[in-house]
Amino acid sequence: MYTSMPSKSIREGIIKGDFMIINTDVLVIGAGPAGSTAAKHAALNGAKVTLIDKKSEIGAPKRCAEGVSKDGLAKLGIEPSSRWVAKELSGVRLVSPNGTDVLLDDDKVKLPESGYILERKVFDKHMAMDAARAGVEILVKTIATGLKRGEEDQVLVDVESMDEKFQIKAKIVIGADGPESRVGRWAGLKTSIKPKNMESCAQFEMANLDMPYPDCIDFYFGSVAPGGYAWIFPKGDDIANVGLGILTTKTDKTAYQHLLEFVKNNPATKNAQPVELNIGGDPVGGMLKDIVADNVMIVGDAASMVNPLTGGGIISGMIGGMIAGKIAGAAIQDEDYSKKRLKEYKDKAQEEIGDSFKKYLKAKEYLLSLSDKELDSIADAFQDAEFESINTSELIKLLIKVSPKALLKLGKLF
Ligand SMILES: Cc1cc2nc3c(=O)[nH]c(=O)nc-3n(C[C@H](O)[C@H](O)[C@H](O)COP(=O)(O)OP(=O)(O)OC[C@H]3O[C@@H](n4cnc5c(N)ncnc54)[C@H](O)[C@@H]3O)c2cc1C
Repeated sequence: MYTSMPSKSIREGIIKGDFMIINTDVLVIGAGPAGSTAAKHAALNGAKVTLIDKKSEIGAPKRCAEGVSKDGLAKLGIEPSSRWVAKELSGVRLVSPNGTDVLLDDDKVKLPESGYILERKVFDKHMAMDAARAGVEILVKTIATGLKRGEEDQVLVDVESMDEKFQIKAKIVIGADGPESRVGRWAGLKTSIKPKNMESCAQFEMANLDMPYPDCIDFYFGSVAPGGYAWIFPKGDDIANVGLGILTTKTDKTAYQHLLEFVKNNPATKNAQPVELNIGGDPVGGMLKDIVADNVMIVGDAASMVNPLTGGGIISGMIGGMIAGKIAGAAIQDEDYSKKRLKEYKDKAQEEIGDSFKKYLKAKEYLLSLSDKELDSIADAFQDAEFESINTSELIKLLIKVSPKALLKLGKLF
């Protein structure tokens, strides 16, 4: 049985041991980039905000290749800092199955997830610190285990922290609990993801690589990673995140088995050694439709805010978090936490994030339909192309020129 707790802060309650139901305006579950951003913006917009994460160290372990675009950070108003930028990149290298490579200079070609390689363990903490400075109360090693509607217009979340069980009563809950999110499901949202929309990823952080272009991120396409692609994202001259994503519907091997093969056969990684292994899912089916309920919003990977083509979700998750946080703050001021009021978040997120994903989803479907031979001949044609200042859409227009199948699959979109 819980007793209502008048203490000013959760920590005060823990010290007193008078457990307890804690009251807050906005509870954010998950302190990844999306959650910390949502919490910060809700607090900046006048709400009393609590942010919890089950990890004892925010950001660790990472499950990410750590690539972000410069434009993406700028859109969020975040100045790059040498504390969390591991490497600035100058371009992208696309490698076809027979090893033909196409180099795209970053000055000319704007691609998502190309710009900086972060040190996520530091970046995620930095984002949580920003939230703290905006007035957010943060609880680490604190896991949400269930959610139900309270008697008033509020939500009760069951929480465990250092063997203590208590409840947090919130007017609005923002679920930012990542790719294995449960908050949405608890709130009755349709969040299940089909296997064809969930990339299974395995990645090593490695040292002693021999990279021909240590300032470029490399993407490897074809049967090396069925249903996805492999990558080498450099973090230093001989250090990189080396990983791949596969669809379990397209191969009998695990992502880890494919990774071991890739590392063994790639000239850059032949002599490299792992210092970290990351295994995780990446939802690549496009933004979920059902992301808002009475008193509840879901953001980031929990809402599948991941670019379906690249698998990148840091920037889009943070943009979703920023929109959700601002609307949560405004809804608290209006004293209206209904689904109807919070739908503004869904509409804005659809406009800012979801709509662009539709194109990327088509582009991914096209890419996955290509055989190794077709990929080799496209790479061959691209090698001779003269690239001026072009963006993703123009890159795909060029693809349409060299691949008739692209015209069929992508012609109407770009
Ligand atoms: C191998 C791999 C490589 C990737 N590479 C890139 C890349 O290069 N660039 C890019 O942009 N994206 C990349 N992504 C995707 C990117 O990592 C995610 O999109 C991003 O981390 C999403 O942020 P988030 O805040 O939504 O979720 P997360 O970063 O997953 O954070 C969720 C947080 O919620 C916490 N949590 C979960 N459940 C609970 C609970 N019940 N109670 C309390 N806390 C909870 C977790 O501990 C975690 O801290 C990659 C993903 C994978 C798997």
